[in-house]
Amino acid sequence: MHDFHYVGNKLFCEGVAVETLTKKFGTPLYVYSQNTVTDHFQKLDAALGPLDHLICFAMKANSNLSVMRVLAKLGSGFDVVSAGELQRVIAAGGDPKLCVFAGVAKSESEIEFALRKGIYSFNVESEPEITRINKVAARLKKIAPIAVRVNPNIEAHTHAKITTGTYENKFGIAFENIEGVYARAAKLKNIKLRGIQMHIGSQLTQTSPYELAVTKVLPLVKKLAAKYKLEFFSPGGGLGIVYNPALASGSSAWWKTEAAKGIMTPATYAEKLLPLLQPLGLKILIEPGRFIVGNAGVLVTQVEYVKRTGKKNFVIVDAAMNDLIRPAFYDAYHEIVPLTKKAGATIPSDVVGGICESGDYFCKDRPLAKVGEGDQLALLSAGAYGFVMSSNYNARPFAAEVLVSGKQAAAARERQKVEKIWEDEKIVSWLK
Ligand SMILES: *Cc1c(COP(=O)(O)O)cnc(C)c1O
Repeated sequence: MHDFHYVGNKLFCEGVAVETLTKKFGTPLYVYSQNTVTDHFQKLDAALGPLDHLICFAMKANSNLSVMRVLAKLGSGFDVVSAGELQRVIAAGGDPKLCVFAGVAKSESEIEFALRKGIYSFNVESEPEITRINKVAARLKKIAPIAVRVNPNIEAHTHAKITTGTYENKFGIAFENIEGVYARAAKLKNIKLRGIQMHIGSQLTQTSPYELAVTKVLPLVKKLAAKYKLEFFSPGGGLGIVYNPALASGSSAWWKTEAAKGIMTPATYAEKLLPLLQPLGLKILIEPGRFIVGNAGVLVTQVEYVKRTGKKNFVIVDAAMNDLIRPAFYDAYHEIVPLTKKAGATIPSDVVGGICESGDYFCKDRPLAKVGEGDQLALLSAGAYGFVMSSNYNARPFAAEVLVSGKQAAAARERQKVEKIWEDEKIVSWLK
């Protein structure tokens, strides 16, 4: 489900015509639907209803303060991967006590900050990290709650850059070594073993890898939970979304047909996993990022030029890979639709940005309605791993972000002023 739809020939986000937003805020522009964020959170929350559970939104997917505030108000916790992200949680009005801290490279100062803020759990990725957390906690005279991330060595069948649950990856501790790690950690005075966690990858559209992985770790989870009085188990995040509606169905009501096509929904996720998780009697954490925000955002861009070469129709737009890197980085598909629908034939087009890299494209040879200079296009499903991965490459300022709720819309981030890009730079003294 998402709240981007046509009214007549105009693309709307909830009750607002997207072109009124580009008139006011310019392009490139990220537009988020509060209702979609809320709906996705609530669908998942309801599906997990029978369990004692906590959704920790993986904020690396979208850390805009307004988006996070929407989730904080719904009672969401957060999965953070740096002290900076934890500071963002606090800035957004979220509760550190509902936060887990993941990541393979936690520094001493990050551990100290998280301990002082009283986070729910460190999701630990290596044994030296446990030693370090224990040391910092001892210095602060605190007890650090931890969960170890078990690497179940399960292939998630997703893109190589987002698979995390096999021994080829840097994440977690090998399944076979977990018991020993818990036994050693239990002896450390400033460590409290609070849970056990895993995360096998991202953009999973089937339930089967979860079922396989959870089934594999269950006996271990039961044993450790009994031995160390663990509170929680987290099967991680990674719930996928539909980027290419053509893969889900040929109709515009594609979301409704997902279950029929075997694409995971909160209901099918719960149907398969609840029977495995419920008997544990533990609190269940999950850490979805993309599922909550992916389809809640679009990136709107304006056509600068249309350039025809012998072979190609290049639609050159004012957004580029610095605004949305997913196509270049993950070969990702984003549906591209006009803000104003036009009748007429489609032509195979490459939509490209203006950066001096041949990787700077949004699609290749995609049949799109003819567009001309000044027309505006929306790249759908850009709410996750979109703005957060943007850069200032080519001295391009960060795009603006807008949050829509019903008929209201407001800047959730002002467009960056170009001077801000070099604000922290200096001309060294001997060159002055
Ligand atoms: C990135 C990440 C997530 C969220 O992944 P999504 O695919 O966005 O749901 C959850 N847990 C951990 C440990 C992660 O690194």
